[in-house]
Amino acid sequence: MGELPADRFDVAIVGAGLAGLTAALKLRDDGLSVCVLEEAEDVGGRLQTEERAGFLLDRGFQVFLTSYPEPRQWLDFPKLQLMRFVPGALVRKDGQFHRFADPWRRPSALWSLLRSPVGTFADKLKIARMRRRVCRSTTEALYETPDHTTIQALRGQGLSESIIESFFRPFLGGVFLDHELTTSSRLCDFVFRHFALGDATLPSQGMQAIPRQLADKLSPEQLHLATPVGRLTDEGVMLADGRRVESRITLVATNAVSAQAMLPKCDFEKRQRSVACLYFAADRPPVEEPILILNGEGRGPVNNMCVPSQVAPTYAPPGSSLISVTVLATSSKHLVSLEREVRDQLKLWFGGDVLRWEHLKTDWIPEALPRQAAPALTPVVKPPQVSDRVFVCGDHRHTASIQGAMESGRLAAQAITQKLRISVAS
Ligand SMILES: Cc1cc2nc3c(=O)[nH]c(=O)nc-3n(C[C@H](O)[C@H](O)[C@H](O)COP(=O)(O)OP(=O)(O)OC[C@H]3O[C@@H](n4cnc5c(N)ncnc54)[C@H](O)[C@@H]3O)c2cc1C
Repeated sequence: MGELPADRFDVAIVGAGLAGLTAALKLRDDGLSVCVLEEAEDVGGRLQTEERAGFLLDRGFQVFLTSYPEPRQWLDFPKLQLMRFVPGALVRKDGQFHRFADPWRRPSALWSLLRSPVGTFADKLKIARMRRRVCRSTTEALYETPDHTTIQALRGQGLSESIIESFFRPFLGGVFLDHELTTSSRLCDFVFRHFALGDATLPSQGMQAIPRQLADKLSPEQLHLATPVGRLTDEGVMLADGRRVESRITLVATNAVSAQAMLPKCDFEKRQRSVACLYFAADRPPVEEPILILNGEGRGPVNNMCVPSQVAPTYAPPGSSLISVTVLATSSKHLVSLEREVRDQLKLWFGGDVLRWEHLKTDWIPEALPRQAAPALTPVVKPPQVSDRVFVCGDHRHTASIQGAMESGRLAAQAITQKLRISVAS
């Protein structure tokens, strides 16, 4: 850990995930002194990328949506070298792959969508109506709509069970890490809007390039890695090694579980969604296209998969392909047999080549996302201040996403600046 300057900070921030880093930049821009304390050896929290034998392995399959407004304020998109997925998906159904194209983003795909056996013609009209509604609305208005579960909302639109099971369940289930689709319909609208308005991308150097770009703007005095906070005190925080850091305000920018441990009197969402992500290396890609593949058959462990190196060639060394497979897992019990089960399923999809794929890694992420189930998601954006001198931010205070984490960090910073300015004035 770097030496902590002796004087008191305006704000001590616990956690260098997207929320904590965004808050730090905003507070610094507002002229306040900040000190970010991160327990891990690197920044990024849930956005991590491991480099292994020339492969870039994101910790769990994630995508960056270019339509998110908050990242646009803080990130240099060209520097991230964002590589795009083809809009739409390939859906595995009845033993074949079917294209479910997005003709709004690729007009040439209209004919393909109309002919696709994934969903009826009426389904496609209803999806067009849903798309128009979420794109014409504002996010604020979407957060105020009645809070149903996603599955109730999809059925309420009159969509057929066939399209729900073959497309929406694996697609939204993969986004929310929630196969049952009990997640709030407000988040469903949020996701639908951002997928409709922008591209799904991967930064060429992996997802962790996003928080690293934010962290690069902070000085060594402002960011302290490998510095776990043990508890909050009346004057700031006490580090796990017993040292104290004093601050006028403390901002807890951890996930909900750690925030709850630090602030036992508050009531945060403690239930988390978990997921497993398996990585394989292959001599040739199972599909050429940079496209998301969904399991629309409703059986087998695989929910979705893709070939990240077909999206961003930097994800694999020359001559190799990287395959990412997502399994929505509720417990770690199945991890031992998971690789074999995944291979058995994908052999049916891609043939015997799958048996020659090299298993690089399985990531098991027990606290991947806060469970944001209906009808409890009210309000969607929760106030950051929890006591006179303690504020909270993070994706559990907003929509569980890159956008939500960063916006919640910026909103918390704004509230802190306002409070400190008022206390100076009075
Ligand atoms: C598998 C997976 C897939 C996802 N897919 C997507 C996607 O496709 N698109 C999307 O937009 N979002 C996605 N997300 C969500 C997105 O990654 C998160 O919402 C976001 O990264 C959360 O950021 P955060 O700053 O709120 O929290 P975190 O990233 O959890 O950061 C909290 C930080 O606090 C630190 N900390 C905790 N306790 C202490 C302590 N005592 N002392 C010091 N530091 C501490 C932690 O080490 C961590 O660095 C996904 C997440 C996962 C895990």
